[in-house]
Amino acid sequence: MLKDVFIGLSQNQFLTSAAKKYGLKLGAQTVVAGTNIEQTIDSIRELNAQGISCTVDNLGEFVFEKEEALKAKDSILEVIESIHANGVDAHISLKPTQIGLDIDYDFCYENLREIVAAASKYDMHINIDMEDYGHVQPSYDLIETLLKEYGNIGTVIQAYFFRAEDDIQKHKDLRLRIVKGAYKEPAEYAYQTREEIDANFIQLIEYHLLHGKFTSIATHDHNIINHVIEFVKENNIPREKFEFQMLYGFRKDMQLNLARQGYNFCTYVPFGDDWYGYFMRRLAERPQNLNLVVKQVFNK
Ligand code: FAD
Repeated sequence: MLKDVFIGLSQNQFLTSAAKKYGLKLGAQTVVAGTNIEQTIDSIRELNAQGISCTVDNLGEFVFEKEEALKAKDSILEVIESIHANGVDAHISLKPTQIGLDIDYDFCYENLREIVAAASKYDMHINIDMEDYGHVQPSYDLIETLLKEYGNIGTVIQAYFFRAEDDIQKHKDLRLRIVKGAYKEPAEYAYQTREEIDANFIQLIEYHLLHGKFTSIATHDHNIINHVIEFVKENNIPREKFEFQMLYGFRKDMQLNLARQGYNFCTYVPFGDDWYGYFMRRLAERPQNLNLVVKQVFNK
């Protein structure tokens, strides 16, 4: 299947390094805000002007060298300073493997702690993105330890996992982003069909809207969004308790429309030179995005 091909390509180390060297290509610039923070701040300002807040992802994942992980940590610290200095409405999303989870747990913990501490000075939220299954439990371990000291963290629940229901109950007091799940996971621990994943997604969203702290409903799926709009109306859930999230460059009209209707809206804004894996996963989710690639190749 095309999805498997793109997921396979997303994990190709050689292509990842080549992509870093040659800048934003293959249409990636339509879904990645820029290669540096200055360009990205401009994009955030434009979204803020339309009533949309942002979560900023300084792209990077599956890092295996300490030096690279430290560089990623320093870049995220710079992004925090830049968001604060520019007074834009934004917070951080990051991936634990970007700052060393595959190298050494304690090393990753120290990097993450430094980031969370820096952001807490400005009362800035840090979202710890969830990656593939093997990284889920260690990521929760990091979060649980950090929560003893800091309150400015939240994470992601991936609806395709059987464990998602337990995880959401355990972490209901956190600000949680709920998603369908982006990686290819085996039937041993993940739902495989669209119907099962969608049903669990809705169940998790409803649970957290009713019992949780703050819910970020992260999807481009209009059926799910329409369902949520009806559900919050029927259950008198105040708008301050939830937001919709979508990725930068996707369904822009719908993003604006929801913000204009007065719903809290947050756009996930990825930037940086490590765009390749992110971009390939977006192609895997929606092969129609290949149109972007084709257009870019022929419009040189
Ligand atoms: P899909 O199941 O891809 O699409 C459902 C339907 O919606 C489609 O059939 C189509 O009718 C419509 N649709 C979808 N996209 C479009 C489009 N571009 N244009 C027109 N119609 C469209 N995953 C993780 O595993 N970990 C994370 O930390 C994580 N963070 C995320 C953060 C955000 C803000 C978002 C939006 C997603 C994140 N994801 C994450 C990815 C997520 O898990 C899904 O893989 C991804 O969002 C695709 O699923 P979907 O819910 O958008 O809808």
